[in-house]
Amino acid sequence: MNMRADQETTLAGTPAAAALPAVADLDTIVSLAKRRGFVFPSSEIYGGINAVWDYGPLGVELKNNVKRAWWRSIVQERNDVVGLDAGILMHPQVWRTSGHVGSFSDPLVECTACKRRYRLDELPGTGDLTPTQIADPEIVAKLALVCPDCAGTLTAPRRFNLMFKTFMGPVEEDASVIFLRPETAQGAYVQHRNVREAARKKIPFGIAQIGKSFRNEISPGNFVFRMREFEQMELQMFVRPDEAATAAFDEWLPRRLAWYKAYGVSPERLRIREHAPDELAHYAKRAIDVEYRFPFGWKELEGIHNRGDFDLSRHAAESGENLDFFDPATETSFTPWVVEAAAGADRAAFTFLIDAYREEEVRGEKRVVLALNPELAPYKVAVLPLLKKRDDLVEKAHAIRDGLAKEFPAVYDDTAAIGKLYRRQDEIGTPWCICVDVESLDDNAVTIRDRDTMEQERVSTDRLQEFFLTKLRAARP
Ligand code: ATP
Repeated sequence: MNMRADQETTLAGTPAAAALPAVADLDTIVSLAKRRGFVFPSSEIYGGINAVWDYGPLGVELKNNVKRAWWRSIVQERNDVVGLDAGILMHPQVWRTSGHVGSFSDPLVECTACKRRYRLDELPGTGDLTPTQIADPEIVAKLALVCPDCAGTLTAPRRFNLMFKTFMGPVEEDASVIFLRPETAQGAYVQHRNVREAARKKIPFGIAQIGKSFRNEISPGNFVFRMREFEQMELQMFVRPDEAATAAFDEWLPRRLAWYKAYGVSPERLRIREHAPDELAHYAKRAIDVEYRFPFGWKELEGIHNRGDFDLSRHAAESGENLDFFDPATETSFTPWVVEAAAGADRAAFTFLIDAYREEEVRGEKRVVLALNPELAPYKVAVLPLLKKRDDLVEKAHAIRDGLAKEFPAVYDDTAAIGKLYRRQDEIGTPWCICVDVESLDDNAVTIRDRDTMEQERVSTDRLQEFFLTKLRAARP
């Protein structure tokens, strides 16, 4: 195996080749996700649509929490980064200038017998190919690659553009073709001058954006890992040229790694991988992927890129607008360079879900726990009456939930016996359960059970809000 030094070791210093996934079989997560309402196949009653997934009640909470956690660390806590929400549809020239129309493509091969299509670099036996080899038109013959489904002959690779096209306006003609954005970054580049001036920022400053992107992936799969419609969380730092960009790159890489670790991803399943010179995207001067050991191998979670002045100088040249920054201190102008941290909201949520999954044995029974950071957990608290037939207990439990729900997501449940209700909350990662029992009516106190330690403590109902808010604050990285 031709592994480079940077990818041989995990962030914990252990050998990457020996890293075990948090869950051996992806199906464990897929079935939990469907059963408990994290993720459903899109349009399932019509047989689904490939590589599009819908987030159910718990999934939407989890993904929103991931996006909030990212926004807090990237925008809220920093004085040099501001937010943007650009449109999914943009002027088609944006994508010609950015290079996406010309080169945002993957190598496609087709089976001449069964007509199935594959991404060349995902065929069995191509894992160690260099980008130069992948671009070789003879590569299929040289490696004697055949269709993995029917062993039929494969065509030579051709480039397949990943952008979805649609039409703007009432006439479906070439002149009205526009694209669904394949990344959010271009919104930040074309708006960077407006944002900088309106927010009164000087270089260096950053624009952060979370939003949908679309890619017509040739071989999507592995659940929500590779989708055709997905959400990105992207930061573009606009910095001075050369050394300043190198410094920004060196600052943001560890910062982003620390974010994943702080939210519970095991360092033994994280590593970095630097792109080889022949692998670098057309815009990149340097690129490092943050990778996670998924059940299906080491795969990218996020990319940190030094994009040089590629984006702004191209957009300036093509639009005729001056996108340079004038520095009043030195009375000179320059085209800012861009350092980007490009993450996927779905991939991050998926990673937190997988990495939090635990199976334990408690008193001879299997207990499934999602040890999610409380900030990411869909519900923070579940309020459970000990006896669902006692109206007074039910009423009190509802009142407690209603009070807490003003501060954070809290859920009421009485559809099973208390032991089972605890297990159900463990499985979806609820950090704390409140049991309202008969005594609660007299002493105005409830039992709080901790998801991880399963320890219980009695707390007065007057103190509940403060109790949980303190815990939530303490759990926040
Ligand atoms: P990959 O190598 O997995 O195709 P990429 O290098 O094309 O990813 P970028 O263009 O750098 O990815 O996009 C930034 C981030 O957006 C990725 O790290 C990933 O988290 C997310 N992302 C990209 N494509 C998809 C997809 N098809 N489905 C879900 N998330 C995606």
